[in-house]
Amino acid sequence: MESVPFFVAGRAVHGEGETTVRHPYDGRVVGRTSVAAADQVEAAVAGAAAVAAEVAALPAHVRAAALDHVSGRLAERADEVAELITAESGKPVKWARVEVTRAVSTFRWAAEEARRFSGEVQRLDTDPAATGRLALVRRVPRGPVLGITPFNFPLNLVAHKVAPALAVGAPIVVKPAPATPLTALLLGELLAETDLPAGCFSVLPLPNDRAADLVADPRLPVVSFTGSGPVGTAIRRAVPDKHVTLELGGNAAVVICEDWSSDEDLTRAAGRIATFANYQAGQSCIAVQRVYVHEWLYDGFLPRLVAAVRALRSGDPADPDTDVGPLIDEAAASRVEQWVDEAVAAGAEIATGGRRTGTTYPPTVLTGVPRDARVNTDEVFGPVLTVAPVAGTDAAFAAVNDSGYGLQAGVFTHDLRTAFAAHRALAVGGVIIGDVPSYRADQMPYGGVKGSGVGREGVRSAMDDYTEPRVLVLTGI
Ligand code: NAD
Repeated sequence: MESVPFFVAGRAVHGEGETTVRHPYDGRVVGRTSVAAADQVEAAVAGAAAVAAEVAALPAHVRAAALDHVSGRLAERADEVAELITAESGKPVKWARVEVTRAVSTFRWAAEEARRFSGEVQRLDTDPAATGRLALVRRVPRGPVLGITPFNFPLNLVAHKVAPALAVGAPIVVKPAPATPLTALLLGELLAETDLPAGCFSVLPLPNDRAADLVADPRLPVVSFTGSGPVGTAIRRAVPDKHVTLELGGNAAVVICEDWSSDEDLTRAAGRIATFANYQAGQSCIAVQRVYVHEWLYDGFLPRLVAAVRALRSGDPADPDTDVGPLIDEAAASRVEQWVDEAVAAGAEIATGGRRTGTTYPPTVLTGVPRDARVNTDEVFGPVLTVAPVAGTDAAFAAVNDSGYGLQAGVFTHDLRTAFAAHRALAVGGVIIGDVPSYRADQMPYGGVKGSGVGREGVRSAMDDYTEPRVLVLTGI
């Protein structure tokens, strides 16, 4: 099996040693690559800095054409890309296909935004002293972006950094997750097919301890990080003067309100929650983790949820019928097992699930979980749901907010007043009405408050983030 090259300033190269990427389901080798050497890291950063002015000045149609090219090529190679995502991350191929479709759209939206992104004209003569003055506000790139990405969406989260950067005319250096570098390298291959200047992008496989040097490099003034809270917090502390965006973890909650009460309502909520607690073996920052059900509905809802969870098919993620695959590695599955065991020791009951096999942990539903059990308070990042009755919406919203995280929340209600009340009350980056918190459209602002991060992604939000306003005041007009 040949080593897959990585990209330094747009050029495909090989580096030091050999990294073996293994399938999380059965441990077989799915690919090999190498690690960027120190001089290659230097060439990537120097290359980005060298072309920053040139890339910022590229006409919008050139940037848009490059982004459209990547979108089109991802669509052409969709099956191959989905299989690669499945092989290195263990994500069921049905979900890997969704990820590719989303990335195709992300690049296409970025191309569209690149065509219209410009700034605004502001009249200043609302103030008598500014009569005859007008401001043109352009958004200019802050400079080269460093994108650091996690393992759970090996394509989409890289796309969320690369596409907006290129749309605004900022070079980008990507450091993919060590467990899942191959999809990012395939994306690098597609970027290398474009006419963008060399230096515009690099994709550097690096171990965690060498990523810190990139973070510290002053030639990369923007750091866009998606990953776990402790690493994100350490990055922010390490470079307080840089523009840092953190997309971190969560323990997403969903509320089933009193009015969501028909058989059809409860069955639909149970199905959506079962699916989106387990869709990547729970390894999504907005996977459903906590469920708060109005106390009058609890007894009718729980059996439906358990039935919906039991109906999910666990197994080989390459099988198109598989709903739930493995966790990324055995350590992750074993941690989930430990947290469930702890909750049970503290009084929780297992309604279904609860026994690990290797890297696979079964979809699990827990009831009677003490408030301070880690399966409630921390990010499980595994296929585990806690379900609790609540006395009403106020109690439910308080329970949702009783968390160190705040990414998204779901509220099942038909009542518009409850929807607005949830939007007002919930301390999260997004409230999803009539569905699970796991809903994300890639053009909408997406991100969290509290321990879930700082700043927003989504194509347009990231473009705002990677640029800063520069004002031109015209006098005497
Ligand atoms: P992680 O924090 O272990 O790793 C993320 C990335 O950071 C990897 O590329 C890793 O190599 C790199 N890294 C590790 N140590 C570093 C350091 N000291 N300096 C610089 N970079 C370093 O996260 P993970 O396990 O790959 O991903 C899971 C986490 O990501 C979960 O907490 C999940 O909620 C979060 N996540 C958040 C979002 C979001 O949009 N909010 C999306 C997906 C995943």
